[in-house]
Order: sequence, then structure tokens, then C-alpha cells
Amino acid sequence: IAWTVVRNRSSTAQKTVDYKPIRSVLVANRGEIAIRVFRACTELGIKSVAIYSEQDKMQMHRQKADESYLVGKGLPPVQAYLNIPEVIRVARENDVDAIHPGYGFLSERSDFAQAVIDAGIRFIGPSPEVVRQMGDKVAARQAAIDSGVPIVPGTAGPVTTTEEAMDFCLQYGLPVIFKAAYGGGGRGMRVVKNMDEVKEAFERASSEAAAAFGNGAMFIEKFIERPRHIEVQLLGDKAGNVVHLYERDCSVQRRHQKVVEMAPAPLLDQKVRESMLEYAVKLAKHVGYENAGTVEFLVDGQGNFYFIEVNARLQVEHTVTEEITGIDLVQSQIKIAEGLTIPEIGLDQSKIVPQGFAIQCRVTTEDPAKNFQPDTGRIEVFRSGEGMGIRLDGASAFAGAIISPYYDSLLVKVIAHAHDLQSSCAKLSRALREFRVRGVKTNIPFLLNVLDNQKFTTGVVDTYFIDEHPQLFT
Ligand code: ADP
Repeated sequence: IAWTVVRNRSSTAQKTVDYKPIRSVLVANRGEIAIRVFRACTELGIKSVAIYSEQDKMQMHRQKADESYLVGKGLPPVQAYLNIPEVIRVARENDVDAIHPGYGFLSERSDFAQAVIDAGIRFIGPSPEVVRQMGDKVAARQAAIDSGVPIVPGTAGPVTTTEEAMDFCLQYGLPVIFKAAYGGGGRGMRVVKNMDEVKEAFERASSEAAAAFGNGAMFIEKFIERPRHIEVQLLGDKAGNVVHLYERDCSVQRRHQKVVEMAPAPLLDQKVRESMLEYAVKLAKHVGYENAGTVEFLVDGQGNFYFIEVNARLQVEHTVTEEITGIDLVQSQIKIAEGLTIPEIGLDQSKIVPQGFAIQCRVTTEDPAKNFQPDTGRIEVFRSGEGMGIRLDGASAFAGAIISPYYDSLLVKVIAHAHDLQSSCAKLSRALREFRVRGVKTNIPFLLNVLDNQKFTTGVVDTYFIDEHPQLFT
């Protein structure tokens, strides 16, 4: 196909990297992110391959790929996508060149990245060693320390006993936050404000972590009061070049999980911004980071910032960065996995300039009036908001779609791109008001309350915002 020419190696490569085109990509995932990757593949003239569980036989991601194969026959719904030998078997039987892990499922499992490579298939992501290092909160913090990046004071290693937890709290003072040493997604996390809560909180968080991640080891950090969550998007290549694609603000969270994300971060001091971007690139270069990744920071009211973690994968909120930079992150990931360098894919730090302002909200099939309980069933009526500056990334957002209880409740990501924060809020709010969804409940009323909130629309929000505004739930 003619347009694959743009992916041919140019003669300006700085360092020699083996270049081998990718002709087919299997996405070891489902739903909206699988479709997001298939779209990038199709635009690059690459064959897309889906996998699906028995429960997902009728899911849209299956239809959007050139080929699709059943995985994990007889396994429970989530396990089907977590079975490494099964995913590798399907990939080998169908001769795929590369595997994209999406987010969630196997995306942060270094044993998966290794198994993919051992099977002679390319992994679209960082090296297994970097995935392992970044997935281990203690090792990731060490990498940050080694590259001079400021971190939140925390335990030097994983903590497994209540006594060690007590010692840390006595030494550093409260409040602290307990985190699963090998976890993520806000699970296994507990904030502790009083000494008499330490024992119980530690035990509960640790058993939650053991159940969710197979390891109850905890990691303890000083709790930063009223922080903003600001993260830097990076792209690195096999030659050691790293560029940043500016930052996102993901401070609007419920239970430490992101609800609304935006780029760039509003009201952020330019010096603080530049310093965070610089540190993020430094860290990535230090660990030899390849492919797309995110360095997450907490920023306090005084403009002090602290590294919290690296997400060694594509994130749900990558869309807002794509909107403001005009760079397709998934296509960039694929090209980097082929062996093209940052300059060869046409990226030059000085020419990556953010344009306007983008916001994403995650429309879920959850009922805000019932404490965000997931709703399931058949979507009877579906109309979406459209128009200038609106992007929809979804998988089961159509009339007739069955929302099953087996997987996460994301229905569609709605992204608005406009001139500034206020106009993006107005656009997103307008688009959400155009939605008509009948048959299942959604969180749209809650999202509209957020978008109508004056603190939100003027950019003065931190991670306490949702908790401090219970009126948003009604
Ligand atoms: P996960 O890997 O589970 O996503 P993170 O370390 O990224 O966990 O933290 C998720 C969220 O939890 C942060 O965005 C922030 O709101 C809160 N959080 C994490 N660490 C701290 C801390 N030390 N102080 C205050 N809030 C924190």
C-alpha cells in the first residue's frame, strides 16, 4: 500500500537500530482500547487481529478487527484475557508480528512482555525489564532517586508487617498512605490519619493487595495534602531518544481513580511545568525507556512536586494529549516497535507544540444516584453528542449493545478539544447533553454536574474535589 512508504527508514538515523516492518498486530485486550489500536493499524496498512472471550462473542471489538479468535475457552471472563499461554498460542497460530497489550489486563506484566518476545513476536511497549522495574513501586522510586527526580518520602523497601508500618508512621508522622507494592488502579490503597488506625488499615490494605495482586507487600508514603495529579506523556525509541508530549491533569478522581482528564494542566506555573517535563525525560532516559509511557507526579499547593509512579503503557487518557499535540500515540508506538527512531517518525521536541485545550470524561454504565453501582442490560436507545471538536472512543455505545457485568463499566470516552478550558468545558457539556441512553443508567448526570461546577471550569481543583462536593452525585 502506498502510504506504508512513510514508515520506510530514512537515511538520517542517528544510531543504528534494526528496522523491521510490522505487518500484523494482535491486541491482547478488549473493548474501546482494542478498537483504538485497530484503527491505528488500519491507517498504517497493518492487519489487525482481535482476541475475544466466550462472553465477548458479540462484542464490537471483534467486528472492528480484520481477524478475530476465541481465547480461554471454558475460562471465566477476565481470566480469558489474562491467560498468557493462550494469547501466545493464538498469536503464533496466526503468524502475528506484534502484540499490543492496551491498558489493564496483561499490559503491566513483565512476564507477558517476556513471553511475547520469547515467542519471536514484538511487544509494543517497553522492554520486559523496564516493565518489571516500573511495576514495582519500590524499584521505580529508586530509579527516580537515581536520576535526581524528587519523590514523596516513603519506605525504602516493601513492608510486610504491622510493626514496620508503625515504625514508619512514628518516624515520619501522619498522615500516610499505604499502597500495594505491586499494585495499581487505586486498589489496596488506604490513607491513615490517626495512629490507632494503623494496625487495622495496614491489615486490610495488605489483604486487599494479596487478593488483587497476589502479593500483600505494602509500600508506605507520606500523604500529600490537597495535591493535584499531573502526569507527563513520553515517547522513547530504541536509540535512546526521548521526547515529552506535555502534561495532563487528572486531579478529578473518585476513590483514587481518574474520572475527568485534561491537557494541558490549567493554572500550572510555567517554571513548575518545565521542571516536571525535564525530570520526566531524565527519568525515562535513565532507565532506557522505550515506547509510550507516563511519569506521574503529585503537586502541592506551594508548587512542590513529587514523583509517584511510572505507567509503562498507554493510558486511558492518552486521547487528550493526542488532541492538543496532533500526534497519534498508538501509531507512534507501532512505528517505534518497528525500530524507527523519534526523528524518523517526524517528531522533534522543539516542534511539538500544544494547541488549545482538551478534556476527556469517562462515560460509564454506573448509577451515580446509587453510589456508582454498575448497571447492566441491553441499551435500548442510543444517541451520542457530536459536532466540532468532539471525539468518541468507545466499543459498546450503540442501540442493541449488551452491557455485561463481566468487565469494567466504561461505555465511551468523550473528548472535547477547543480553544481553552472554559470553551472545552462548554463543548463537552453540550455534547453530553445531546446524549440519549436508555436501557442502562450512566454517570452522565454526575459528569454534567462536574462540568457545570465553577471551581472546575476555572481550573482550581485538586484530588479532594469530588469528595468535598457531594452535591455532584445528585
Ligand atoms: P495507582 O497505581 O493505584 O493508580 P498511584 O500511586 O498512581 O496509584 O496513585 C493514585 C492516586 O492516589 C493519586 O493520583 C493521588 O490522588 C492518590 N495518591 C497516591 N499517593 C499519594 C500521596 N503520597 N499523597 C496523596 N495522595 C496520593
